[in-house]
Amino acid sequence: MASTRESGPRRYLLSEANYRQMLDEPPNVAVLPWGATEAHNYHLPYGTDNYEAVAVAEEAARQAVERGAKIVVLPEIPYGNNAQQLDQVATIHFSTTTAAAILEDVVTSLKRQGIDRLVIMNGHGGNNFSGLVRDAQLEHEVLIVVINFYDLRIDAFHEVFAEPGDHADEMETSVMLHLRPELVQLEQAGPGERVPFKIASLGQSGVWTPRPWSRSHPDTGSGSPADATAEKGERYFEAIASAAADVFYDLSSAQRGDLPYV
Ligand SMILES: [Zn+2]
Repeated sequence: MASTRESGPRRYLLSEANYRQMLDEPPNVAVLPWGATEAHNYHLPYGTDNYEAVAVAEEAARQAVERGAKIVVLPEIPYGNNAQQLDQVATIHFSTTTAAAILEDVVTSLKRQGIDRLVIMNGHGGNNFSGLVRDAQLEHEVLIVVINFYDLRIDAFHEVFAEPGDHADEMETSVMLHLRPELVQLEQAGPGERVPFKIASLGQSGVWTPRPWSRSHPDTGSGSPADATAEKGERYFEAIASAAADVFYDLSSAQRGDLPYV
């Protein structure tokens, strides 16, 4: 990733960019990383989803801007839907109503400045933006795209990782070992096991209800982190950042009328 000190303020990151840069090269795509702050087994930081979403957004923006795209990455929204984790110390839950209000204000603000393409870079599986995006697009002529970074390049996921999981697992631990190794305390990790539902038919495909997280996942992890390495994290991160860069580039180049852009 690019170093800030060598290159000065990166114009594609709003928190670093100055007004001169924004006026000289106005963006037409905004990227909003949106995560959550929650326990990730005993070994990863509460901010894991935010570190991941921000890092993917920043690296993808760097690559897309290098190819000529006009992108700005906004500061992240650090809280998400944690309704099933409120028994875990210091966990803040943002309701869907709160998320809708935030999205509405972001879209209204950006549209006034001529930015009519928004990407939500989601880092938290408990966030679900589909309904919010449908509602916001009905109100505003803005193209809103959701990227769940962990659903990008499923082929790369299976190529790199052997252990299934969806929280503080081999994938997330490897990515954090790549991005922020000083924050990973792997020796403290629990096994990341899941207690199966007693109501067995709820476990089948096509049927969904949220997991009561701390009872379903006693150490809060879902999936074993034991085989995680920084090298696996780097390979996977590069694959998903490059896929996200393609989305950013295509959106920045799109013309109104290019489906699905109205
Ligand atoms: Zn996570």
